[in-house]
Amino acid sequence: MVKISRFGKTIGSLVLIPPTSHNSSQPNNPIVVRDLIDHSTKHWNRDLVTQHFEPQVATKILNIRIPLQGEDQLHWTLSKKGYFTVKSTYLGLTGALSEFQNHSPGSGDTWKKLWNLKTLPKVKLLLWKCLNDLLPTKVKLASFIEINSIFCSMCKSKPEDAKHLILECPFAKAIWFSLPFGFIPQLHSNLSLQEWILSWLQNNEINVNIDNLDWPHVAALVAWSIWKGRCFNVFQNKPLNTKSTSKGILYLLESVKTLNDCGQKLGINTNSSHIPSTNSKWTPPLGDFIKISCDASFDPSNLSCGIGLVARNNAGTFRGARVVACNAVDAENGESLTMWEAVKWAKEMHLQKIILESDSKQVISALKGDQTQVHWQNNTILKDCEYLLSNFTLWSLDI
Ligand SMILES: [Zn+2]
Repeated sequence: MVKISRFGKTIGSLVLIPPTSHNSSQPNNPIVVRDLIDHSTKHWNRDLVTQHFEPQVATKILNIRIPLQGEDQLHWTLSKKGYFTVKSTYLGLTGALSEFQNHSPGSGDTWKKLWNLKTLPKVKLLLWKCLNDLLPTKVKLASFIEINSIFCSMCKSKPEDAKHLILECPFAKAIWFSLPFGFIPQLHSNLSLQEWILSWLQNNEINVNIDNLDWPHVAALVAWSIWKGRCFNVFQNKPLNTKSTSKGILYLLESVKTLNDCGQKLGINTNSSHIPSTNSKWTPPLGDFIKISCDASFDPSNLSCGIGLVARNNAGTFRGARVVACNAVDAENGESLTMWEAVKWAKEMHLQKIILESDSKQVISALKGDQTQVHWQNNTILKDCEYLLSNFTLWSLDI
């Protein structure tokens, strides 16, 4: 069966509606998708949809946004850009893609939290490698090349995979035990390493606050120090030393804490991976433009999205605000829908000269013409934004 996408969402077998108990009176006259749409209002024909589909399917269909213009397109759903690539096919077949997509609902927030951790970049990189199963352990290397042994370099008794190294190896356990955080790795033996990291990165499941340092920061630094100890042992033949490794961890924690405290006093963001906005201070629009500041909040746990819009003029005077609750697939989808709501709102207010301000570089780049920046599903939303924006006297984008 060929997958057909309409309005930026795959609806597959919905293209032709087979005879069912609902429409068996017309077995030789199947209706097609366009028959389900009221083209004058650009809305679904609710009665027809609910009449022909099971309630769950009907709800999904009715939640599909119908664009104002454009034509149906075929999309390769395994790639972000919607084009066929051998790589996406390979990843799809091997399951790597689904594994990645399992992270995807929370990926925006998860990766954001990871890269915003107030710790050293090399520590964040280690977490990223762990989450993507890229840590070059012996078990991992053995899946690519021939090596003498897959057993742990430190204890020599168990296969050396990432979870063993960070949580299960006697050396790792000794490090965790020696630190004053009361963390017992054995209590998390039912989780994979990725699940364990996600549990505190996404849900703050373990909420230990130590002198203004949160648990993700502490756990990441301990994991990195254990890995570093293992690498020194393997590559430089340095003996494993629980005491000095623990002391090093406490010293690093104290150093980063001091750095963060100083940064706070001076009003400096000491998070080295934080990319400051090019326009962190709000600037008023020129002349008779109205600037609409747009932002979205996405909750991956229930795919809900909150949209906030604020309009101000060149004197900084508040001209209005709007909040919208909706569903989104991910954070980028939420940001795209936010832009769509902003343009609709500006049209409702009969504004003619507007500036749309968003902190989503991808969405702004896509609206400026680089459609490869966003997922193909969001391109239909942004194309509708462009379509509506063409009716304004002047408009521009700000980030
Ligand atoms: Zn070991």
